Amino acid sequence: MTPVSTFKDKRVALFGLGGSGLSTARALISGGAQVAAWDDGAASRAKADFPLVDLTHADWSAFSALVLSPGVPFTHPKPHWTVERARAAGVEVIGDIELFARERAARAPHAPLIAITGTNGKSTTTALIAHILREAGRDVALGGNIGVPVLDLPPPSEDRIHVIECSTFQIDLAPSLKPSVGLLINLTPDHLDRHGSMEKYAAIKERLVAASDLALVGLDDEYCRAVAARVQLRGRRVVGVSAARSAQADVFVEVRRLFVKGGAASLIDLRIAPNLRGAHNGQNAAFAFAAARAVGVSLEDIQSGLASFPGLAHRMELVARIGATLFVNDSKATNADAAEKALASYHDIFWILGGKAKEGGVEPLRPLFPRIRKAYLIGAATQDFAASLGQAVPHERCGTLDKAVAAAARDAAACDANEPVVLLSPACASYDQFANFEARGDAFRLAVAQLKGT
Ligand code: ADP
Repeated sequence: MTPVSTFKDKRVALFGLGGSGLSTARALISGGAQVAAWDDGAASRAKADFPLVDLTHADWSAFSALVLSPGVPFTHPKPHWTVERARAAGVEVIGDIELFARERAARAPHAPLIAITGTNGKSTTTALIAHILREAGRDVALGGNIGVPVLDLPPPSEDRIHVIECSTFQIDLAPSLKPSVGLLINLTPDHLDRHGSMEKYAAIKERLVAASDLALVGLDDEYCRAVAARVQLRGRRVVGVSAARSAQADVFVEVRRLFVKGGAASLIDLRIAPNLRGAHNGQNAAFAFAAARAVGVSLEDIQSGLASFPGLAHRMELVARIGATLFVNDSKATNADAAEKALASYHDIFWILGGKAKEGGVEPLRPLFPRIRKAYLIGAATQDFAASLGQAVPHERCGTLDKAVAAAARDAAACDANEPVVLLSPACASYDQFANFEARGDAFRLAVAQLKGT
């Protein structure tokens, strides 16, 4: 834990008692703050192991800050009532990453801090950077929006590297966050209902790199290119990263090979990294390379870290190879956009899809249909998806995931491809048949393990 000492003996209001709210309250208490914590939900309040204060009846002028959980609306669709009460009383509103940033400034201002944001690829890139650094023998603290809340991590110190994933909500609540290395991977419209507009969403994400000693910014979309140009104009060091050959990029990937500007030969052949397939992972790998270089990791250590990266569960996760067939769990692909990344990463695909369909279904994936040998339909979307696949892709209505795995494995084993792929990339939410996408991915893994057993 990182005890928060910067509010010692002060009264702090805290709203939202999810995982990060609980962790924040404990960190504040152990640093000597007087915390008035609350949540609208009785079930959340029941999880607290410290006294609570009903903030609806509190004297807000007594508080030094309101610490808000990232899930609670700060601005959109409208500010939460606690935010309005805080503003009316002139009380600042901040989040756990801000508390961490202040603690770092007070305790170890030069402690290395790599902070990662972007619309897609945050978790993969964050985990990959942490993996490379750990394999290179560094003391790494990995968390934030991924896994462990930031204040549950060990405190900042000059010989420890914090690698922190930041959501837009967290950045919005962290005005003094100044990473040593900041990453903005990409920007596409997402969660706009929570941020008002694309411009506002992009502007919040921009703050992270604008305040970084070294800014690594993607050059593959127009919003990020504009951010890179602005941040550079303001005199920050910017490294441009691209997943396509780009004349402006300092680090780029072309046909699975990673280059740096001015180098005639590629530095790394990404085919060494079995769990980083696909162009999107090329972008993630290029960012991880640039971040690891920035903190002095050798090329050799980066190469071996990329090669041994186990991947993240449920995101194009290679769960088994049986004979020539690869079994890939991409259960996190709950929409067509995400499934597209997986379909574009393989050939000779035996595709398991279905569940609770999103708007537009699988129609946008039509250009990738030629890669699919056969499709196996499960769940509520069966009828609609069968209509979309039509004559273009042979398909079978399997109903349940275990039947689909068995049928796909049978057909893959009998086919003539060198490396057939049984791919669960459902392009659907899971909750018609599973509690969540993790449960669906676990069921896939189990079904594959049972096949292996037979
Ligand atoms: P995030 O943490 O930003 O949600 P993840 O690393 O968890 O991102 O990846 C989630 C999904 O987003 C992946 O399954 C893949 O479909 C897609 N994805 C991953 N990296 C990228 C990227 N660099 N560009 C676009 N899409 C990506």
